[in-house]
Amino acid sequence: MSLSIGDVAWTYREMGRLGLNFGSAGNVSRRHGARMLITPSGATTDGILDAAVVEMTFQGEVTRGDVPSSEWAMHAAIYEAYPQAGAIIHSHADACTALACLREPLPPFHYMVAGFGGDDVRCTPYTTFGTKALADLAVEALRDRTACLLGNHGMTCHGRDLKAALSAAVRLETLARQYMLARSVKTPQLLNPDELLAARERYRSYGQSAAQESAA
Ligand code: 13P
Ligand code: ZN
Repeated sequence: MSLSIGDVAWTYREMGRLGLNFGSAGNVSRRHGARMLITPSGATTDGILDAAVVEMTFQGEVTRGDVPSSEWAMHAAIYEAYPQAGAIIHSHADACTALACLREPLPPFHYMVAGFGGDDVRCTPYTTFGTKALADLAVEALRDRTACLLGNHGMTCHGRDLKAALSAAVRLETLARQYMLARSVKTPQLLNPDELLAARERYRSYGQSAAQESAA
């Protein structure tokens, strides 16, 4: 995937093409010095214009553009809490959202769950979209993780840049789909802590010679 780093609108369009979002659900941002660039509120994945991307401070002051995503406070809170986060994706992708509506975490049913930093991907309680309360819940659920589910809502993930964040979103949605497919047949076997530790060890060197985004 070739991606011109910094292209927030392109990443949002790509989310639509990949089936991660529909209509105006979801939003994308990237860190921009002490500020962030974020998709405008209500933008559709096929209609967003590059020029519509909003520049703003983490305190909510818009320095370029019009109305930012209603989830700007969640993006800002994540950048402030996690310095390693260079880009954030929030999505209502089907499988993540279905699992979030069960208000359950994604458990360690597959070793790739360890690629998000821990033994599961947490799910927050439900609260109203676009609120500081949701921002706080997301920050808490992201502790030592690069992704979380938002109860009865969707998912949020971050990466060092837009490419990494998009890759994380695709991986999480795929795993959530696989988990529910397995669960629709029977209760999946979960990996034990030793097995997850061994997977995390393997991830340390995974993909390095391929000069591509590691799954870790
Ligand atoms: P925005 O269109 O304001 O970004 O909101 C979409 C969304 O997903 C709210 O949670
Ligand atoms: Zn949302």
